[in-house]
Amino acid sequence: MHDKTLAQLSAGLAAGEFSSVELTRHFLDRIASLDGKLNSFITVTEAQALAQAEAADARIAAGEAGPLTGIPLAHKDIFCTRDVRTSCGSFMLDNFVSPYDATVVSRLAQAGMVMLGKTNMDEFAMGSSNETSYYGPVRNPWDTERVPGGSSGGSATAVAARLVPAATGTDTGGSIRQPAALSGITGLKPTYGRCSRWGMIAFASSLDQAGPMTRTAEDAALLLAGMAGFDERDSTSAERPVDDYRAGLDRPIDGLKVGLVREFMQQEGLDAGVAKATEAVLEELKRQGAEVVEISLPNAHLSVPAYYVVAPAECSSNLSRFDGVRFGHRCEDPKDLQDLYERSRSEGFGAEVKRRILIGTYALSAGYYDAYYLKAQQVRQLIAEDFRRAFEQVDLVVSPTAPDVAFPLGAKADDPVAMYLQDIYTIAVNLAGLPAISIPAPLADGLPTGFQMIGNHFEEARLLNVAHRIQRETDWHQQAPEGF
Ligand code: GLN
Repeated sequence: MHDKTLAQLSAGLAAGEFSSVELTRHFLDRIASLDGKLNSFITVTEAQALAQAEAADARIAAGEAGPLTGIPLAHKDIFCTRDVRTSCGSFMLDNFVSPYDATVVSRLAQAGMVMLGKTNMDEFAMGSSNETSYYGPVRNPWDTERVPGGSSGGSATAVAARLVPAATGTDTGGSIRQPAALSGITGLKPTYGRCSRWGMIAFASSLDQAGPMTRTAEDAALLLAGMAGFDERDSTSAERPVDDYRAGLDRPIDGLKVGLVREFMQQEGLDAGVAKATEAVLEELKRQGAEVVEISLPNAHLSVPAYYVVAPAECSSNLSRFDGVRFGHRCEDPKDLQDLYERSRSEGFGAEVKRRILIGTYALSAGYYDAYYLKAQQVRQLIAEDFRRAFEQVDLVVSPTAPDVAFPLGAKADDPVAMYLQDIYTIAVNLAGLPAISIPAPLADGLPTGFQMIGNHFEEARLLNVAHRIQRETDWHQQAPEGF
């Protein structure tokens, strides 16, 4: 059963080939027997899952099921889940049991999905390798000595190893797309505002966005339809109807204009195998009648530096609520209030989170605000302008998702700048608030690579359509890691 896609499982449930309880048990058994090698789950919610599966079976029997009813999924542990620990990968929230569900979680539950548990992640979603988690690193099922990417590394690994048919992730600078690329799955970051951020623990509020992580574009279309939509509890949520993502999946793509980002292909550090895999996907697009041209994003090289001012600035503000009083770990026997704050925060947060808080606090301080934060916001505008101009010429902008394949555990852990460069192709998209998808491209040296497609605002349907057309004709997304 675990070889089937979400769409196939949905059809199987509808046809009565198996029940949701059987499906749920099957995946829970796989988690129990295989996740010891991977560490992709922080919490497994077996009893709740079986209860949800029973309710889903009743709904199916009553003829009241939708396409997601009875399908197991896992949520990144950044989403608040009622009565279930929500740790955000941090010791700070190790004991936090959320009193409510995030909107994305409640929407998918209402659609009848079955939550199997919460997936491992970089602490507070800061990282590109899933090594900053308090709960230990996640391992890549393609090679367990390598990282799965991050920060949604647990979700990527769980889907790649078929421990779950689909998972949620979040993407602030690349955290859905980069682990999708390194783990060989499909991951979509929607337009900023498409999915509600309510109940999603905030990292950098002007960049954070939830999205689906699945094996195929068709599955991503199904899951996104269940997650997206206006939410009055998130003031940045977009008040516009959700497209029927599945309806347009098969539309032919001849005449589509695709712009390959010249600066990204010339990037020093782009792995030769990844470049070759990108070419193979471009050939497939051309074979189906798309026209590929080169485009320029002249300010894209400024995206990583701008992001590493904006994201830490917003994180330093968002994470101030974890003070041992309002939220989070509290130290033992504080001498006074200052001591309580200091020790609670120094014990609760890990090194990368502290580094970001320090950078962000500095960048926002009175004497430096104009020099750093304001400047970064101006650069952000220039990057958005680059994309605006590109979309006057082409329908889609494409590039590799990440500069290289999955790297060995520990290889970049002591070099934050090398780690930050993992997101060199993904970050500009968040700064501009655009939607983008990563789909599996051919393997390089036996390891997955990702192909990124970026659309104009709210063009998720087009991204899913093009991705599906590629997946209809190729089998790159069907490659699976051995032993899982
Ligand atoms: N790797 C980037 C960072 O560490 C992006 C993380 C994310 O998208 N959540 O900030």
